[in-house]
Amino acid sequence: MTPEHALEIRDLTVELGGRRILHEVGFTVPRGEVVGIIGPNGAGKSTLLSCVYRHIAYQRGEITVDGRELRTLPRRELARLIAAVPQDTPFAFDLTVEDIVAAGRIPHTGAFARNRDHDRGIIDECLRRVNVEHLRHRSAATLSGGERQRALLGRALAQDAPILVLDEPTNHLDLANQEQLLELVHEHTGTSLVAIHDLNLAAEYCDHIVVLRDGAVVTDGPPERVLTPELLHDVFRVRAHVVPHPESGRPHVITSARRVRSGVDAQNSVRQ
Ligand code: ADP
Ligand code: MG
Repeated sequence: MTPEHALEIRDLTVELGGRRILHEVGFTVPRGEVVGIIGPNGAGKSTLLSCVYRHIAYQRGEITVDGRELRTLPRRELARLIAAVPQDTPFAFDLTVEDIVAAGRIPHTGAFARNRDHDRGIIDECLRRVNVEHLRHRSAATLSGGERQRALLGRALAQDAPILVLDEPTNHLDLANQEQLLELVHEHTGTSLVAIHDLNLAAEYCDHIVVLRDGAVVTDGPPERVLTPELLHDVFRVRAHVVPHPESGRPHVITSARRVRSGVDAQNSVRQ
């Protein structure tokens, strides 16, 4: 029987450089859902995701993928289950965009007689889906931030894994590219775990949001339950209005204008 949750994180505790970075973090990622991780800078989002794609080790706790403890999975098998788009991924600059996307097929080739036509078909389709077909022979060194990010998502999609893990994939992207990228994540038929800086994008594209602060989970739930003015004040230290988006009805965060926040500033602005 397949477990109901694609990913389960329990009591995850991580120490780095002698400091405890994550404290007993726990939540579940239901199969087929997009789960967003939000939290201020330094809250531990990247550390948490690095544990999930096993770039760093955790001291205590458990992460189970399809009911199996992550640490027991052979690398290749892990790569068939989880495709990652880490933040600021370094890659050799002599690679072309096609090489980057093709790298997503590595976990699938080699173990069995490889089916080149099959792999080629997937690579072509992924180049098309992330809209970098016209760049396929371009060197990675010449890409803009948005093109680079799309190529990395193409690689993750080519990996054809049921779980996608992305660390702030919309950073450095313009508005259209942010939306396009999250649309692709949304269309991914599997499960996604994604750290997102922009709360409105998180509200729009996530089924479920986990809030981290100082390495611990503050709350988690659907966007409309999590994104409240109280939480934004407590966790992000901003005064904000939360209104329903006029089209989607999802919560939309509008921070208070600085001048309105302070009576003194407001008076000064009137005098000027
Ligand atoms: P976020 O992604 O939410 O901004 P991070 O997971 O990158 O947060 O970082 C959480 C905390 O862990 C920060 O205080 C950061 O300085 C610290 N940290 C991250 N990596 C290391 C490391 N290798 N050694 C020591 N501290 C680290
Ligand atoms: Mg981070």
